Amino acid sequence: MSQDRAAALAAIADQIKICTRCPLYEGTLNAVPGAGNIHAEIMFIGEGPGFHEDKQGLPFVGRSGDYLTYLLNLIGLKREEVFITNVVKHRPPENRDPTPDEMLACKPYLDEQIALIDPLVIATLGRFSMARYFPDGKISQIHGQPKYADGRAYYPFYHPAAVLRNPGLRKTMEEDFHRLLEVIENVKKRRDSGETPPAPPAASSPSNSPDASEVTNPPESDGPPQQLTLF
Ligand code: URA
Repeated sequence: MSQDRAAALAAIADQIKICTRCPLYEGTLNAVPGAGNIHAEIMFIGEGPGFHEDKQGLPFVGRSGDYLTYLLNLIGLKREEVFITNVVKHRPPENRDPTPDEMLACKPYLDEQIALIDPLVIATLGRFSMARYFPDGKISQIHGQPKYADGRAYYPFYHPAAVLRNPGLRKTMEEDFHRLLEVIENVKKRRDSGETPPAPPAASSPSNSPDASEVTNPPESDGPPQQLTLF
């Protein structure tokens, strides 16, 4: 099973590396499929690769990534224990926001990664991944508030880059991180009590055409547009 999972995730990564479903791959150095523990209890979903991620083919390896690592360590977790990926797997030019078409093109990959890893918690980093699960949510209002559904929790965080830009958010971000451990325990209790069964296995495969009705519109910004992947 573990080998199956590893092989299936590696196959998705291979498809992402040669993906031309949207023009984002043009001008990039590397695809960034995602990285981490294939049995992770927590899966972090960011926005899209930035300069350093494009160079290395790994998610969150620039300043935002250093801060994410710091936050994980703060609550006793190591990066290797979680899985980290993004809504789009190639770097948008000039670190601009991903478009709805680009997110739609990448959606089957992310859906399949989630189905295979089946994390207890999907932790969203920033507005774009948040909008998958909280289409009407505003990050400033719903950060740190878990939604329990499908046998897991969806837990929205500010984007680490937004916090680095606005140090006034640091305390809030760290408090939200501390609550993550409690959220995991709550999901375990719910699963144990049969209250919410584990999520069903994937119905779609990355080769299926994406369902436009499931794709979120660009999330409403809380403030002036920010390029979150600059780090
Ligand atoms: N910002 C993101 O959203 N994702 C990364 O991988 C790096 C920075």
